[in-house]
Amino acid sequence: MCGIVGYTGSQEAAPILLEGLKKLEYRGYDSAGIAVFDNNKIKVVKCQGKLENLVGRMADEGKPEGTCGIGHTRWATHGGVLKKNAHPHRCGKVTFVHNGIVENYRQLIEDYELQEQLVSETDTEVVAALLNHYYEGDAKKAIQQ
Ligand code: GLU
Repeated sequence: MCGIVGYTGSQEAAPILLEGLKKLEYRGYDSAGIAVFDNNKIKVVKCQGKLENLVGRMADEGKPEGTCGIGHTRWATHGGVLKKNAHPHRCGKVTFVHNGIVENYRQLIEDYELQEQLVSETDTEVVAALLNHYYEGDAKKAIQQ
């Protein structure tokens, strides 16, 4: 099991995302990450292991500041427990988290020739690359496609 939490509002997102992920810890996880819309950029911080490690990463890399973001705890199904496999996954203009399994990920890689864009071993990143393939400024449209 694993978890996803999202926040958008008027408060700093990072502490709220961490708090939300903390509440989901009981579900079990092996890595964690957050993405925050920070000064017109999306800042991603992720780690292998427990949320304490994520807090440590934020201390090292700088806490993302912004009022909109998403957080994820991962239970690895595809790819080892490594920082590069932790979510969120970024591909071009798409930053993405996902719980579960993408059963046809190999077929998608082949059909859309996505292999060169992938840096992780996960099925999830394939969806980020696929959405990026279709994204032309309208997220809903890309998802529908
Ligand atoms: N299949 C994805 C992965 O291995 C998501 C696992 C999950 O549900 O956390 O990264």
